[in-house]
Amino acid sequence: MKVLKFGGTSVGSAQRMKDVAKLITDGEKKIVVLSAMSGTTNTLVEISEYLYQKNPEGANEIINTLEAKYKHHINELFETEAYKQQTQEFVKSVFDYIRSYTKDIFTLFEEKVILAQGEIMSTNMVTNYLQEQGVKAVLIPALEFMRTDKNSEPDLTYIGEKLQVQLEANPDADIYITQGFICRNAYGEIDNLQRGGSDYTASLIGAAIHASEIQIWTDIDGMHDNDPRIVDHTSPVRQLHFEEAAELAYFGAKILHPTCVQPAKYANIPVRLLNTMEPSAPGTLISNDTEKGKIKAVAAKDNITAIKIKSSRMLLAHGFLRKVFEIFESYQTPIDMVCTSEVGVSMSIDNTKHLHEIVDDLKKYGTVTVDHDMCIICVVGDLEWENVGFETKALDAMRNIPVRMISFGGSNYNISFLVRESDKKAALQALSDELFHQR
Ligand code: ADP
Ligand code: ASP
Ligand code: MG
Repeated sequence: MKVLKFGGTSVGSAQRMKDVAKLITDGEKKIVVLSAMSGTTNTLVEISEYLYQKNPEGANEIINTLEAKYKHHINELFETEAYKQQTQEFVKSVFDYIRSYTKDIFTLFEEKVILAQGEIMSTNMVTNYLQEQGVKAVLIPALEFMRTDKNSEPDLTYIGEKLQVQLEANPDADIYITQGFICRNAYGEIDNLQRGGSDYTASLIGAAIHASEIQIWTDIDGMHDNDPRIVDHTSPVRQLHFEEAAELAYFGAKILHPTCVQPAKYANIPVRLLNTMEPSAPGTLISNDTEKGKIKAVAAKDNITAIKIKSSRMLLAHGFLRKVFEIFESYQTPIDMVCTSEVGVSMSIDNTKHLHEIVDDLKKYGTVTVDHDMCIICVVGDLEWENVGFETKALDAMRNIPVRMISFGGSNYNISFLVRESDKKAALQALSDELFHQR
């Protein structure tokens, strides 16, 4: 069985919900994970902010506006009065429930309950719509099986067992609809898997039922962001290894977050990224397969700062790198690239909030140089060290571009170059020409 997840924009209007319904009714049994309608979770966060600030009037105004939107969507979605009325009543009960939280003390606990309502409404609407259309669809509530343990990690054994109970209770259903994002914690309280967590739900369900494939459907704008092609004229990326996808996640922050696909990766279940606006396109398949000897994508990230610390004390010393890294850690600043020599180390960071303090502290250990407005260019593909030739090709492409750092060997899937931001375009073009067009 496959698991299909549709994001907020893909269920963002009555029409979009109808499109999703068409897409999923192909006679194949499946589990469908839905996000809240786009904008809803953000609005629920805003409502919570008013309630934290003890402003129930502000909260109520937003609640009323959101409720009016839902009424409108429901009127557009259904053809028959009975289904329309049934869904209106359900959604009204949800908004009344949200309103009941405006009267009393408001804590993290209440906020989690409010944030859960977006997915609870979208799944109710789509399930009712499918049933109206005569499809054998059932809603299996995520709060009955999706659970985290005392360390706030998903409890896979519990999830697997309880999900099975839900599926077995509805053997005749063709489509099982469930909520992404929401869960219960170890104490049975309503909780969530963090913003954007619907992808995580799909991955966890896929792993729990040993799905044949997990499909992450998103809309065309989302897909554009998911598309690792930063360079023009390269062909779309059809297949990625989980690790290649993880490398690219840093660049196109909107590609699936590596922690979200971890359950799928461990269970060896392929994840396919698909576009709701172009459903027949093959999308991108992420799996544990490596396409031998193939370079997949070239990606870039701007606003990088390089810091070099040079010290003759580093020669043959131990503990030098630890001291240097501890300074970054104390300012909660992640280091991205690292290159070392016997007497110096260069690092890149993209968060410069504490740059001044970091540089000051580093001066205890050596001479410090900072280069601003740099850019990481990353080549992703099968770059296993025993393959010969690829490093040379990449380096050759960069022959006319001043390169500040090179990082290779950190993983089997990446070579990164640090160049000036002003050289980014030329570097991307040169790499694209060399790696994709001369074979
Ligand atoms: P999709 O990924 O298909 O766009 P999602 O349902 O996964 O849809 O996300 C819905 C929306 O939630 C996103 O478009 C974005 O506005 C918001 N969102 C997702 N992840 C985060 C996050 N980590 N922090 C804040 N907002 C987020
Ligand atoms: N609706 C939640 C959010 O907007 C979860 C998700 O869509 O993935 O963050
Ligand atoms: Mg998302």
